Amino acid sequence: MALAGAVRAEVQGDVCVITIDNPPINATSQAIRQGLLAALTDFKANANCQAAVIACAGNTFVAGTDIREFGQPMMAPILPEVMRAIEECGKPVVAALHGAALGGGFELALACDARVADAKTMIGLPEVSLGIIPGAGGTQLLPRRTGLSRAIRMIGCSQRISAPEALALNLIDAVVTGPLLNAAIDKARALGGRKCRIRDEAVPAEDSALTEKTVADTLREGKRRPALQAAIEAVKCAATLPIDQGLAEERQRFLQLRTSREAYALRHVFFAERDSAKLPAELNAKPLTLETVCVIGAGTMGTGIAISLLDAGLRVVLLEQDDAARQRGHDRVITHYRNRVATQKMKTEVALERQSRLHSSLDWADMASADLVIEAVFEDLAVKQEVFRKIDRFARPGAVLATNTSYLDLDAIARTTSRPQDVLGLHFFSPANVMKLLEVVRGQDSRPEVLATGMSLGKRLRKLPVLAGNAFGFIGNRIYNAYRNQCEFMLEDGAWPEEVDSALKQFGMAMGPFAVADLSGLDIAWRMRQAQAATRSPSVRYVDILDRLCEAGRLGRKTGAGYYNYVDGQQQPTTDAQVRGTIKAASQRRGIVRQSLSSDTIQRRAMLAIVNEAARLLGEGVASRASDIDVVMVHGYGFPRWEGGPVFWARQQYRDALAQEIQTLACQCGEGFVAADLSVLFENQ
Ligand code: NAD
Repeated sequence: MALAGAVRAEVQGDVCVITIDNPPINATSQAIRQGLLAALTDFKANANCQAAVIACAGNTFVAGTDIREFGQPMMAPILPEVMRAIEECGKPVVAALHGAALGGGFELALACDARVADAKTMIGLPEVSLGIIPGAGGTQLLPRRTGLSRAIRMIGCSQRISAPEALALNLIDAVVTGPLLNAAIDKARALGGRKCRIRDEAVPAEDSALTEKTVADTLREGKRRPALQAAIEAVKCAATLPIDQGLAEERQRFLQLRTSREAYALRHVFFAERDSAKLPAELNAKPLTLETVCVIGAGTMGTGIAISLLDAGLRVVLLEQDDAARQRGHDRVITHYRNRVATQKMKTEVALERQSRLHSSLDWADMASADLVIEAVFEDLAVKQEVFRKIDRFARPGAVLATNTSYLDLDAIARTTSRPQDVLGLHFFSPANVMKLLEVVRGQDSRPEVLATGMSLGKRLRKLPVLAGNAFGFIGNRIYNAYRNQCEFMLEDGAWPEEVDSALKQFGMAMGPFAVADLSGLDIAWRMRQAQAATRSPSVRYVDILDRLCEAGRLGRKTGAGYYNYVDGQQQPTTDAQVRGTIKAASQRRGIVRQSLSSDTIQRRAMLAIVNEAARLLGEGVASRASDIDVVMVHGYGFPRWEGGPVFWARQQYRDALAQEIQTLACQCGEGFVAADLSVLFENQ
């Protein structure tokens, strides 16, 4: 029998099989909830059916709620009504899980009397990552099976767990190897008409010291975000309140968070991430097939990129210029896999298979088998141009040629080959096997197939590929430069590094800019500044504090001193007298009477600089979508996800006031700070 909203019900003997068919992820939209309620009403009334199974067509069980509904008024029937209908139908209902059972999908399963799953199923309640909490009973039902601490971890950290783990936690009743539906029907019959409602169970007793430790750890890791705090409070209610009161507490918090700015920001990033992996229509093309990739340069980036490629099933030729560097790079990859095995994050045979696809070499002829070449040698245009001339000689015709440059002109590199149409930038972030962001840089001549290959490689590596135009620093480093410059201006104007860092950490940045600079090494920026010195206009405000620190041998954490001192590797909380002296002297040279800057002023100036640069590069077409900028800053530069990214942040401000403040800042900063037309940030919202 077909019911509303792609829900079907079919009687198999004495079991009613209710199937949700709502591709791609069987989201519990309003229509699906309506269909489920109708099916459950029919099942309850049908005296010939002693039990029911809820299953899903397609690749997955219900993998979540329709997130677009969150921003809209609530639409009846709501999920808790469906949950109650399952719990109160008087006959057992079994959930047959496959693919993913997440959020509302897993809550639905928890309302059932038993759950069976195929071995590859993943389950979880990831609502906190979207700034909300489970709103249909997840916080009350889960701890009744797992205990408080485990539920706090699972919900608070948005953990996804595998079917075998869920079985061990008593969250599912069986992991099925044969046909899933048959097993679910057998399970439904085996219940013999008995209801086994989780809502009737008590939360297992737990030592309160353990609960409090878990709460403290989870709050610290999750930066005490409101949704996390609400989730923890709701889970704790499960142990102290009768279930209906606990459910009411959960619901109240859910409804409050649902319309919060933070939830809106997190939903924005969620959709921005999905959009950023799509090329604009005019560049749509079929990606080329990749099996073997040649990585040139076995340094920090080359080895990270190699690991990422090996993890994705590709063959890797790692090419170096001298044998010692080759051996070091090769060893770094092998050690990585050895550590994965030692820490039980990978099985030995998996690690061995992955490293068996690595071939390190000094022989350029080995490049011939590569479908893609990724250059990751020193950041020096002449060196890279020389390497690309050589690549042009050794790479097979039609191979895709990529550079991992951070700042250099892609076209100046591509032009040294006879095939600039095959060249693109693949800007990985460090550590390349961990960081999710990948800027796919479009050169003047890059053909669509080559760009499509870059984007599809990004997805294959489980990264977030974002298209960027060929401009100094592409999207991310260009914005970061503007941000860092502004922070340096603030040093000259009167702030100390720890004041700037602490204000920006308070805003939500993962680290402050000066702590980041110390971590990456000040000499990288120093070298770049030296290379630009000849072309820098003398009237542009240039802060030379970093150069002076480098001249004094303070290259950052690796030398035990940079903007901060490091004792036993630990950053000291304040800058020392030498650094303060250097900063004061810089202020003096510019004729500035130092004045302290409030935390608000620091945050505001930094954000204005970021937003201004975002608008400039969007206006220039370096980013093709405004939301791509948010993905880049959240995933590559520690911008707080819950602020939605700089473009989202800008859209929450009064537009005219923002433009006015940027004008004022431009006057304050002088030549070199070009005030942007902000309108591009507010189009197509
Ligand atoms: P690195 O100094 O750690 O490694 C560079 C390696 O390239 C060295 O092992 C060197 O021996 C090798 N090499 C140099 N010339 C070569 C040649 N002609 N043939 C073969 N091998 C050669 O540098 P890195 O940090 O890995 O950076 C590499 C590239 O990645 C640079 O363009 C850099 O801007 C970019 N990048 C770096 C980071 C980062 O955080 N380190 C992040 C993103 C992008």
